[in-house]
Amino acid sequence: MSRTGRFAPSPTGDLHFGSLIAAVASFLQAKSKGGTWLVRIEDVDRPREVPGSAQRILADLQRFGMVSDRPVLYQSQRTAAYEQAITRLLDGGDAYWCGCSRSEMPASGVYPGTCSRGLPAGKSPRSIRLRVPAQPIVFQDEVQGLIRENLEETVGDFVIRRADGLAAYQLAVVVDDAFQQVTEIVRGADLLDSTARQIHLQGCLGLDTPLYAHHPVATGNDQKKLSKRHAADPVATHPPEQALEQALRFLGQPAPEGMCLQNLWRWALDHWQLSRIPRITITL
Ligand code: GLU
Repeated sequence: MSRTGRFAPSPTGDLHFGSLIAAVASFLQAKSKGGTWLVRIEDVDRPREVPGSAQRILADLQRFGMVSDRPVLYQSQRTAAYEQAITRLLDGGDAYWCGCSRSEMPASGVYPGTCSRGLPAGKSPRSIRLRVPAQPIVFQDEVQGLIRENLEETVGDFVIRRADGLAAYQLAVVVDDAFQQVTEIVRGADLLDSTARQIHLQGCLGLDTPLYAHHPVATGNDQKKLSKRHAADPVATHPPEQALEQALRFLGQPAPEGMCLQNLWRWALDHWQLSRIPRITITL
């Protein structure tokens, strides 16, 4: 089967170096084997969206020569598919209505299952949660190795439809990765702790589990993850060949210096090896 990879940015700011790494890694993993690469704009969380950033992210990707092989999918257009999946999970008893508010969550962040046997008297339905299994989820991450997570201990039954009626990130990602027939998920290690939840959701929905590879997350010298919400350098301020060279070095695939953008891509496509991505977090 041919490979399909994807880059799935949330339009909450401009493309920065941290997200460029995920774009480059997912692109090379798909394209180095003649596969398909897709872009999905994860604008499901409308309240967090920064107007215009989706267009700027797409324009920045294009400046690097990264263009989605199929029309860009926008999660804001996918509400019906999410609702269908949620209904199926509710009907099958895998999910249930929860009446708890954020302030009722224990400090541990692990949901204690208050509403799992029906809404207690006095509570009205707010969000929808998915039941987690008693046994741990075990999976092989192509960069980080064998991962084992017991969802009962780390998160408990988790939200798949938020109190504001929007599909939660975990649900939307799983439904869309399956819809787009994604076979390889290459993304930052900050999402490693979402993976067990996503694999569990795939199981409940009868979907295949793709390959996962979580690359290290770039940190600034203040040790904070470079994110769109922190003051990260937008890649638009750097020449693309310089930023790509830096991204490749970060991913453990240093190219000979001084190449033009086109030659850099050619080199990277020829030399790409997932096994060379370092496990550790690199400080820039
Ligand atoms: N939209 C998520 C983000 O920008 C990435 C989701 C994913 O790659 O699974 O952090």
